[in-house]
Amino acid sequence: MVDFSLRPEDRALQERTRDFVRSAVVPFEKDPRWTDHGPTEVLREALNALAREAGLLAPQVAPEFGGLGLGHVQRALVFEASGYSILGPVAMHCAAPDEGNLHLLELVASPAQRERYLRPMAQARWLSCFAMTEPHPGAGSDPAQLASRADRDGDHFVVNGHKWLITGADGARVVIVMARAFDGAHELGPTMFLAHLPDPAVKVVRLLDTMDSSFVGGHAELRIEGLRVHRDDVLGEIGQGLRYAQVRLAPARLTHCMRWLGSAMRAQEIALDYAGRRQAFGQPLARHGGLGAMLADNEIDLHVCRLAILQAAWTLDQGESGRHVSSLVKVFVSEALFRVADRCLQVLGGMGVTRDTPVERIFREIRAFRIYDGPSEVHRWAIANRITPREH
Ligand SMILES: Cc1cc2nc3c(=O)[nH]c(=O)nc-3n(C[C@H](O)[C@H](O)[C@H](O)COP(=O)(O)OP(=O)(O)OC[C@H]3O[C@@H](n4cnc5c(N)ncnc54)[C@H](O)[C@@H]3O)c2cc1C
Repeated sequence: MVDFSLRPEDRALQERTRDFVRSAVVPFEKDPRWTDHGPTEVLREALNALAREAGLLAPQVAPEFGGLGLGHVQRALVFEASGYSILGPVAMHCAAPDEGNLHLLELVASPAQRERYLRPMAQARWLSCFAMTEPHPGAGSDPAQLASRADRDGDHFVVNGHKWLITGADGARVVIVMARAFDGAHELGPTMFLAHLPDPAVKVVRLLDTMDSSFVGGHAELRIEGLRVHRDDVLGEIGQGLRYAQVRLAPARLTHCMRWLGSAMRAQEIALDYAGRRQAFGQPLARHGGLGAMLADNEIDLHVCRLAILQAAWTLDQGESGRHVSSLVKVFVSEALFRVADRCLQVLGGMGVTRDTPVERIFREIRAFRIYDGPSEVHRWAIANRITPREH
């Protein structure tokens, strides 16, 4: 039997998150400390303090690290509610890339690494970044092109590389670097390394000017030159970096879906309100067939997105890796939510392109989501490879 009812305690937490975001976070949306490169550190700390006070800071992490230890379905409910404001996940410390990094460390870090890195990260005392993508000819959609390398030097590895599009690198206190490990001429394979920042060996070359602006620290280009990492700071096993990237990415792409669903719901709420009030040709906009159909299509897309996310989250709660289902859902949701944001913008007419409502920003943010955590085309290609028979 499939039971779609929510447990009372989950519904209560969802409601509490909704109330918190509407009353405490939304008022910060016009704050000048929200810049083109995301909320500043000062704004982020102020928002975290409010979430901490409300008992809603990092609800996804295990209770031993100060969170509520939410399962994946519970995350779907709470993260969607947090996404009502783009600043909601920042406030609650469940935004990317920290949320994915925390999840990865909870699963893979050694006991010493959990104390050294995970604890301060979980309490939002330290932010973190995840450095995998490289400019041409390095790793992008195809991680096998990874060019950064880490050469063994006694008990250390010396990491050199060029990374870009690294969210939150500017201001992060922890970096997880993906590099190809070598012992002399012998390659050990792609490996994840943990390091404290700032470190003179990790330089922010520039902050990239991007269409999105929700992530603390924006997105940076990095040069890593001679970063010394003790072997105790190898994350997990040497040579298993690509496997851990999947461990991180399968749930991380779903949590993006959850948060952006909340933002798209907000856009629809604004569009419905406008279309109900604004008159044209003798009646409210919503009564004009073409526009009403757009609002109805939004309702359909939002409903199907929520069901798809919840089912995928349930799959993860059953202990499965969720690699395939999270791929399917990421493609559908990122494209459906973009359609929703696009229609909402159109419903608002000229106001849609202004910053008088959050819809313009939601539209830009959701567009970028079709690229990160795997562009749609790469997921479709990978799905096709998994579902079609192999040649013999
Ligand atoms: C806002 C944002 C934040 C990001 N944050 C991070 C971060 O914190 N850390 C990090 O490491 N990276 C981050 N990234 C990088 C992101 O993961 C990459 O942009 C993504 O993996 C695609 O790689 P690429 O940009 O090199 O595109 P490319 O590999 O150059 O691909 C370009 C296009 O080619 C197409 N394509 C590629 N392969 C295939 C295929 N097999 N079949 C069909 N079409 C294909 C796709 O349409 C793709 O969009 C971020 C990116 C963005 C936009």
